[in-house]
Amino acid sequence: MSKLSNPKETIAVVSQYDFDFRKRFGQNFLVDEGVILRALEAAQVGEEDVIFEIGPGIGTLTQYLCEAAHSVAAIEIDRKLIPILEDTLKKYDNVRIINEDVLKTDLLDLAREYEAGRMNQPGQKHLLKIVANLPYYITTPILMALMQQRVPAQSVTVMVQKEVADRMTARPGSKDYGSLSIAVQYYSRPQIVEIVPPESFIPRPKVTSAVVRMELYEEPPVEPADEKLFIAITRAAFEQRRKTLVNALGSNQALSCSKDSIREALEKMGKSPSVRGEALSMEEFIQLSDLLSAAQTQA
Ligand code: SAM
Repeated sequence: MSKLSNPKETIAVVSQYDFDFRKRFGQNFLVDEGVILRALEAAQVGEEDVIFEIGPGIGTLTQYLCEAAHSVAAIEIDRKLIPILEDTLKKYDNVRIINEDVLKTDLLDLAREYEAGRMNQPGQKHLLKIVANLPYYITTPILMALMQQRVPAQSVTVMVQKEVADRMTARPGSKDYGSLSIAVQYYSRPQIVEIVPPESFIPRPKVTSAVVRMELYEEPPVEPADEKLFIAITRAAFEQRRKTLVNALGSNQALSCSKDSIREALEKMGKSPSVRGEALSMEEFIQLSDLLSAAQTQA
């Protein structure tokens, strides 16, 4: 079978199997070889690498991954795509097709099976990298799961909506800066690799896309005393971004921080009590989270 990375081959496979694209699974298949090759280069896929691909679709990107990497585990939720993948990938003996919802897959366990570990660990032969054209409807839950579960990947290279890529890489004070920017930048060093137009997919999505490469930190450079509280605080701070931090955090039931304790913490940080979340850097959110965590312990 020839490569699927062009409209003609993709349409041929889709018609051969009478496959109906399912919008609810975010199915937009890549038909642009240039984009695939540049994503592979950005991910620096090498012959000892183990790749986890999320949402292989009909196997377009997977074909290239199989040729460049040691092995590939491709996790696809749509059971109608499984016989297609078995056909389009039949010439590769280094791929495993897993018919599961990635949000329910134990990726740590899967990594262990492949003995794929973090960079620089003694005795580790294989580096784990994640490469995917993500289903856009669950981009944030997938990214958060990969990062918070500390899936031992060296890097994550993903196609996302451009608007999400802008949020992932935004700096404090910009309109795109929010809880996703802080979470992504806490766990990794993100970089936009390429902007991708709707014409690079079948069917065409309504939005522009972007490839983002995140190099995951083995240990975050700055760590809060309570990581869960830190993430919860950043979420609450941007849920209603026009509110001051005192009001946004103080009125959040899940946090149980009094407005007085928040004012006190901000004062210790030399911040105005009317400051908003968008003005605080990630390091300042960590400081705030540590002060509030200490206040909760004392109470
Ligand atoms: N990788 C293919 C490509 O680039 O042509 C397809 C990418 S398409 C944007 C997203 C893929 O993710 C679809 O095949 C879809 O069925 C799959 N998908 C959606 N939700 C999923 C989930 N929860 N777990 C695993 N795969 C999922």
